[in-house]
Amino acid sequence: MSDCLFCGIISKKIPARIVYEDEAVAAFEDANPQAPVHTLVVPKKHIPTTLDITEEDQKLIGKMFRVANRIAKEKGIAERGFRLVMNTNPEAGQSVYHIHLHLLGGRPMHWPPG
Ligand code: AMP
Ligand code: ZN
Repeated sequence: MSDCLFCGIISKKIPARIVYEDEAVAAFEDANPQAPVHTLVVPKKHIPTTLDITEEDQKLIGKMFRVANRIAKEKGIAERGFRLVMNTNPEAGQSVYHIHLHLLGGRPMHWPPG
């Protein structure tokens, strides 16, 4: 999608610190990190919100979680613990309408979230 920020990062038109990429998924460092580790895992397919995930996307969504696990292990936070978050629509704070899995870690996480 031409006016989508994350499609721009995926197509390398917009710079980002990409840490993982394959044919279906990319991951890059969040520009405004909320924890020592804050990486975003995105599908290359433009899916605006989690509400738009269809049956055909099931393998893709599973892959996003497996990529997040791999990055958590690489960054040394898997055993300590980490949080995976997807925000949907305004009250959850979604600001970019291309789904992304936030991988957050490297500090204690609070619950309930703000
Ligand atoms: P959300 O608010 O859940 O939609 O998350 C969007 C995330 O994208 C926020 O954590 C932002 O800091 C992050 N973000 C916005 N612009 C960029 C960018 N150009 N590169 C990397 N991360 C970004
Ligand atoms: Zn997009």
